Amino acid sequence: MRPFELVTAEDPNQAVALLSEHPDASYLGGGTNLVDHLRLGVATPTLVVDVRRLPLGEVERSEDGGLRIGATVPNADLAAHPVVRRDYPMLSRALLAGASGQIRNAATTAGNLLQRTRCAYFQDVTTPCNKREPGSGCSAVGGYTRYHAIFGASESCLAVHPSDMAVALAALDATVVVLGPAGERRIPVVDLHRLPGDEPDRDTVLAHGDLITAVELPAPSGAKSTYRKVRDRASFAFALVSVAASLDVEGGTVREARIAFGGVAHKPWRAHLAEDALAGVALDPDDPEAQEQAFLDAADAELAQASPVGGAAGDFTEGNEFKVGLLRNTLVSVLRELSAADSGAESEGTRR
Ligand code: SF4
Repeated sequence: MRPFELVTAEDPNQAVALLSEHPDASYLGGGTNLVDHLRLGVATPTLVVDVRRLPLGEVERSEDGGLRIGATVPNADLAAHPVVRRDYPMLSRALLAGASGQIRNAATTAGNLLQRTRCAYFQDVTTPCNKREPGSGCSAVGGYTRYHAIFGASESCLAVHPSDMAVALAALDATVVVLGPAGERRIPVVDLHRLPGDEPDRDTVLAHGDLITAVELPAPSGAKSTYRKVRDRASFAFALVSVAASLDVEGGTVREARIAFGGVAHKPWRAHLAEDALAGVALDPDDPEAQEQAFLDAADAELAQASPVGGAAGDFTEGNEFKVGLLRNTLVSVLRELSAADSGAESEGTRR
């Protein structure tokens, strides 16, 4: 590990000033990702600014009936918060699915959003990786892509964003509050992360020195919602695919659907085409076949954009084509669950 200077920030403006003055500096939140990268040589800052003691640890009701979540609120506290559990169950479930209890205790809200891809090549400094070292190449092209993107990838990078929480926040139309050298601004979570293009080293639209100070949730919609994650191990693992969804049904007709996917793109993937396909659809519990077809049509509308990576049969480079069918089945199953919950068969994960 390369030696670095460690400074504890006293207030947010001081933290931003410190980063802005040092191009090789990094913020330290819970450390659950950065410390690994320091050990692996993936991150080599000369200055680390500890922001965990900043006064950003509160969860508060906002004036519009939404929720303001401080950047340093631990993932465990947010998942267990009674208002989050009652009004935003999708978020609570995503946080619980995201990591073990020990990691949830340490990881922060902002750190969760800013964690970096778990692409194995990114974390192995002996292999080419455009995200870690721009211009060096992408080892996943022609390599192991089981955990890689089926939406929005480029020739430069096929990586996916690893956060579960970010997927729920994207579906909830959450906003991040950012403090930069020029002051405060707000960015919708759906616009925070980037597709890789030819600059995969840039995970987000944030500039060096920008500090996320809070996440704001709109007032709860009252729609049934849930989060479902499919992974290789039942214990903690990153998503092969995940679905955050809410279904607002009025008089048997879908008024609004909100859907985001995880594990399939360089950013939480908001499934606007699936949402549009569901809007206005009549869900008749006495006609389950028509309902099932509507859910399949919605999934297929979104999946028409998928560009999975094929693999050679029997080879370790199996590709990720399986994710298309897996995501289709997962979305349809989630929509079925939400629809059933709305018609009375409510489950733990879909309460309002
Ligand atoms: Fe690096 Fe992205 Fe290629 Fe992984 S997929 S090796 S992160 S450039």
